[in-house]
Amino acid sequence: MLNARPLPFTLKDDPWDPIFSLRRHGRHRLTSVEMTLSNLCNMRCEHCAVGDTLVLAEPEKLPLDMMLRRLEEVEELRTISITGGEPTFAERTVKEYIIPLLQYARSRGIYSQINSNITLDYSRYEAIAPYLDVMHISFNYTSADDFHEIGFAKSGHPVPKAVAARMYERMMDNARRLGEGGLFVSAESMINFRTHRKMPEIHRLIAEMGCRRHEVHPMYPSAFAADLPVITPAQMRDAVTDLLNRRDPSLWMLFGTLPFYGCSDDAADRALLQRLANEPHVTVRNDPDGRNRLNVNLFTGDVFVTDFSDVPAFGNIRGSRLDELFERWLAHPLAKSVDCHCPAAACCGPNLLVKEMYYRDVDFGSRSAIV
Ligand code: SF4
Repeated sequence: MLNARPLPFTLKDDPWDPIFSLRRHGRHRLTSVEMTLSNLCNMRCEHCAVGDTLVLAEPEKLPLDMMLRRLEEVEELRTISITGGEPTFAERTVKEYIIPLLQYARSRGIYSQINSNITLDYSRYEAIAPYLDVMHISFNYTSADDFHEIGFAKSGHPVPKAVAARMYERMMDNARRLGEGGLFVSAESMINFRTHRKMPEIHRLIAEMGCRRHEVHPMYPSAFAADLPVITPAQMRDAVTDLLNRRDPSLWMLFGTLPFYGCSDDAADRALLQRLANEPHVTVRNDPDGRNRLNVNLFTGDVFVTDFSDVPAFGNIRGSRLDELFERWLAHPLAKSVDCHCPAAACCGPNLLVKEMYYRDVDFGSRSAIV
């Protein structure tokens, strides 16, 4: 066993969902801090949200102590997330940053997540598993060929199929072993132009790998993925419906950043939301970005609302406390443009990218859920 603790949260209390902190405090509070610890990665995925920032050699990070001090000041902190690049790419980062940050989370009684492609050697993940709550992986494939095509789409040089196939097998094997060792592995798939008709097959493989949760988000083209074809909300609705019809009912499914809201004029959107709310083992997470979460870039100290760069940094941890920066963000006109809350629909507003893409002229402040 990897000595991972049993998952301390349930389907009914997802500590990453801002609706719970909003209910608890009556207003949005910073409860979640995401840290970008690596701009290195062994893959170059077509859809990568931070692909533009990936490098071959990276600068020094800010001292760990500074980050720990800033975390300690966050009054209502409940979760931390570690992201990259591939956060475990450099062993030094694993030893000097990742393990101490996870140990800090444990000692404070808060939850932790790492976003990893788990294609490296098992020993790297085995080293962090005892301190980790959620190993979050991306899985958008039905075969090694898919993995090759998607995972190296932005590589500057050709990557042999056989190399990709070995990584694909290692990733699946690592997921199985980590899961068997007791770690909660959550696999995320994106609904996009490639996957929208393949979701049930992707779901089947995720269940076979022993993952405990399948997380599904539509893909919204940002930065690196800006040139990818966009699918319509109706196609997304069909993909979600198809998945619900054919899923493994025992596997927790978490849907996030959906472009459908309880205030929609479209009855099909509302019917789908109703179905999602009634399905066993299915949850819909409100968007954490800027609602209960901020992202800190450990190389510069810059603070963002998301780990991708569409909204520029609005502060830096060198000079400000994270709670202070969060209050500053809440007062920002962009934050206000998506600040709504309909308790009856358990909804606290759209994601910024979704608003920009589909609801540019909609004033969410003047709408409310139709229940
Ligand atoms: S909280 Fe906002 S987005 Fe959600 S249903 Fe209400 S008005 Fe619509």
